[in-house]
Formats: sequence, C-alpha cells, structure tokens
Amino acid sequence: MNITEAKAVLNKRGFLDLPVDPSLDLFAEIEKLKKETNAIILAHYYQEADIQDVADYIGDSLGLAQQAASTNADVIVFAGVHFMAETAKILNPTKKVLLPDLNAGCSLADSAPAEAFRKFKEAHPDHIVISYINCTAEVKALSDIICTSGNVEKIIESLPKDQKIIFAPDRNLGAYVNKLTGRNMLLWDGSCQVHEIFSLEKILSLKRQHPEALLLAHPECEEIILKEADFIGSTTQILKYATSSPAKEFIVATEAGILHQMEKDSPDKVFIPAPPSNACACNDCPYMKLNTLEKLYLCMKFQLPEIKMDENLRLAAKKPIDKMMEISRKAGLIK
Ligand code: SF4
Repeated sequence: MNITEAKAVLNKRGFLDLPVDPSLDLFAEIEKLKKETNAIILAHYYQEADIQDVADYIGDSLGLAQQAASTNADVIVFAGVHFMAETAKILNPTKKVLLPDLNAGCSLADSAPAEAFRKFKEAHPDHIVISYINCTAEVKALSDIICTSGNVEKIIESLPKDQKIIFAPDRNLGAYVNKLTGRNMLLWDGSCQVHEIFSLEKILSLKRQHPEALLLAHPECEEIILKEADFIGSTTQILKYATSSPAKEFIVATEAGILHQMEKDSPDKVFIPAPPSNACACNDCPYMKLNTLEKLYLCMKFQLPEIKMDENLRLAAKKPIDKMMEISRKAGLIK
C-alpha cells in the first residue's frame, strides 16, 4: 500500500496502514519530526515503554489535559486513547491533534452511550452531573463538571452536602467516592474492562508469597480489591506513593504500563503487576496498546489521523472541563 491508498482507507482502518523501513532509527526520526513540525508528544502512563521514552510529557488524564491546554506546540500528538485526544482538541482547538490509531477507544467511555445518558439525566432533573474524564465529548457536553481520579474527592467536596449528584460513567470509582465522602451519588452503571478483571484470589496468593509487599490500587478497581489495598489513588498518585514509600516491594493493581515509570524512578524496588482473572500475568489495556512506535512515527510524518470536532459540541464539552480546572486550582491541585 502507498500513502494515497493508505489515506483512502484511513477511516476504515483507523490508522495509516503503511510499511515502515525496519532499518530506520524510529527514536531519531520521531525527534526530527518533532522539531520540523513543532510537535509535542503527550503520552499516558499506560502506553508501551518505547512510546513513553519518546514522549515530552507522560501523565494521567488530569496532567495530560493541563499540558494540552498550555502547550505552545502547533501539533499535539496524543499517545493515549480517543477520549483523551478529544479532550486535547476541546481545550486547544487551534492546534492540530493527532492520534496514532483512531481505534484506540475505551470500554469505560463506551459504557455510557450519549443518547442513553441523556435520557438518564432527563429522568433526574434535580441532580447535577459529574462525569469522570473517561467519557466521550458528547457525554462531557451533557455534564456539569468533569473530574479525574486525582481530583474527584475535591470536586465532590466543593458541592453542598445536600446537592443531588449523578456520577458517570464508572460505578466502581463512584462507589469508592460515595464511601469516602459519605455521599449517596446516583451511579451510572459503567466500568473499565481492565480494572474490573483483577483476581482477588491471585492477589491474595501474591501477598502471601511477598508478605512485605504493599498493594497499590486504582479506584476503578472493584471494591473487593480496594478493601485489600494499602494505598488507593490515581495513576500519578500511585507512582508518587511508590517513589516516596520506604517499602521495597509493591503489587500494582492498575494497567501494567505504569510499571515502566515506577521501575525508572525506583530501580532498587520491586514492582509486581497484579494479575487479572484470565490466563495473563499482567493487565494490559487493549486500546492503549493499539498505539505502537511505528504508528506514532507514521502519524507524525503524514500528520494523520487527525481529531476533528464540531465547534458547538466542543464548546459544550469545554464548559465542564473548565469548571474542573477552576475547582482544582482553588483546591491547590494545579497551578
Ligand atoms: S484502562 Fe480502562 S479506562 Fe483506561 S483506556 Fe483502557 S479501557 Fe479505558
């Protein structure tokens, strides 16, 4: 396939399906393309190690959203999943936003289809809607405030105690926050397929084998896992905790991509990925891992696939993100 043919089937394939010369030093080529096009690569912690190593910024949803909003680059190459690249476009409409593979979706975002969510919201007119950032632009546009796992507690606490709240789309995160804040938020019944399949039995067996190890868990995990955790937090909070903790061994219950930064930051510590209930030893997000170094290189070289968005939708989806940033700033979570 040549570039004309690859462009013609781009929407069907979701990425530029072109051969890459195996003799190319992709790290050097990507650095060159960054300079030539004034591009910045923003990568999520769940990306493969090579992509994390070429990124200009690695972070979780909140950090990535902030970087996307403040960058001076002309091109934002988003190494993450579709809703994250959409968020970058919402915050920075004048920039070109590229995503190496448009098929990089998210089971959690998909669990809240906009039309069904609209009806749910209409059935509860006295509730305000707080949505986790892992949702589509259409669901963001139906929300009053967006949150991430790093700021959700502060966002909820900023509202009057008697305020009725719909929380979407993650029921596990919602249940955890209900417990933490003593609220009784109405939860949308969505979940992340990666964080829902950790095996309690295998984790307990790992704990027996490594009695000194601390269990670190993301709040998207089920309650039975969270009950066993020594620390619960967003990806960034888990990373910070592992770096500053005097403990030497950790079992990590979130997507296994985070282990790359943990091992880089603390080479003297041992990080064990918490096993899922299937046959795999660690838990990879199949959407995050659709991005590869080759696809990243091709999307930078040909500036495709690009995220485009209707302006009315963008403006409606931006309001609740702006509200999140405002509350996060007041709470001292961001500058
Ligand atoms: S890990 Fe879960 S929430 Fe994150 S992108 Fe993958 S499916 Fe979505």
